[in-house]
Amino acid sequence: MVGRKALRTATPLASARRIVVKVGSALLVEGDSGRLNRTWLKALLADLLRLRRRGQQVLLVSSGAVALGRRPLDLTPGPLRLPESQAAAAVGQIRLAHAYKELLEEAGVTVAQVLLTLEDSEQRTRYLNARATLEALLKVGALPVINENDTVATAELRYGDNDRLAARVAQMTSADCLVLLSDVEGLFTADPNRDPKACFVERVLQITPEIEAMAGRASSTHGSGGMATKIAAARFALSAGCHMCIASGHPRHPLRRIESGARCTWFIPASTPLAARKQWIAGTLRPAGALHIDAGALRALRSGKSLLPAGVTRTLGRFDSGDTVSVIAPDGAEVARGIAAYSDDDAARILGRQSSEIESLLGFRGPDELIHRDDLVILPHERGPALPETAAPAVPDQSGPALSGAV
Ligand code: GLU
Repeated sequence: MVGRKALRTATPLASARRIVVKVGSALLVEGDSGRLNRTWLKALLADLLRLRRRGQQVLLVSSGAVALGRRPLDLTPGPLRLPESQAAAAVGQIRLAHAYKELLEEAGVTVAQVLLTLEDSEQRTRYLNARATLEALLKVGALPVINENDTVATAELRYGDNDRLAARVAQMTSADCLVLLSDVEGLFTADPNRDPKACFVERVLQITPEIEAMAGRASSTHGSGGMATKIAAARFALSAGCHMCIASGHPRHPLRRIESGARCTWFIPASTPLAARKQWIAGTLRPAGALHIDAGALRALRSGKSLLPAGVTRTLGRFDSGDTVSVIAPDGAEVARGIAAYSDDDAARILGRQSSEIESLLGFRGPDELIHRDDLVILPHERGPALPETAAPAVPDQSGPALSGAV
């Protein structure tokens, strides 16, 4: 579905709570000299700091490691073999991180480097761990600067482009806005360099085969991404309830320009990150286990509260923290589904107890809730018991959520 009218309301960038901005190598690194374009970067960081001053949380996904590592290693322009690009990334990433630290420290902002691999986003425990780290960084006000861990990513197991990595980070952190800054202005119906009838697309509500076809026809000169990876990123973002924007990063202060209505393509999701996450939880086909709750906890859940250990009477099945579990009412009906914050073993040790006792019971300080209300979906009344009393617990799905799924 495509609309070509300009957005009349304030951009989603202005109203977002949490924003992921991705910058491509072609913006950060000067083509001729292979050096970092500090002037451009300073202007971008000024934009990011402006968002932060407005109370918005910002994560930056920055490319540029490979491009910055070429010159010191005397690597000629053109495609690199994998070990060469990994070597270049090792040299370039340290330079990139240094520049971010220097420029952001001047502004009194603590920068945190996070290097992720595909496995970190696809393997459940690593995914949860990465998500918790990013949450912790945002909570203390640090600015996470994220890139793929190119030096260790293998040919088969790598993103290879930061468009999809950025979308995954947006999903992982329940961001409500993702901005992909690169050398393209947005999506065209055809390659504008070749087809005079090509039209600019300002708004996309759904990734249809028509949109996919437009991505196939578009051309982008730099970076690993191109339009196809941007559309793949949009697919992830929309499924996670996250707005996404493709915009040119070339002009100074690109984010400010987007807010003042500069031409760009917006992808508009049908739901919010929280709703998308809840839909994903509700749709889990095989919850890994179950928590039986008492009548008081049932009332609390129905009034929108979290599930505390005090209201749980027993656990069923084997599950890890981060697995989806059923919540079973005293009458045996499945009343809710949610993501357990503790494994079945730990849950069994804290059930019926006050949250203040968790640390002394388990020996570590975890969340107060067994299932946080944001991770909990109350099911419609008619849904029957999910797990028979004697059911063998379903084998927990060890993979992370599917790339196309919302989390
Ligand atoms: N991770 C790569 C780098 O830092 C960039 C990948 C991309 O171009 O999207 O050089």
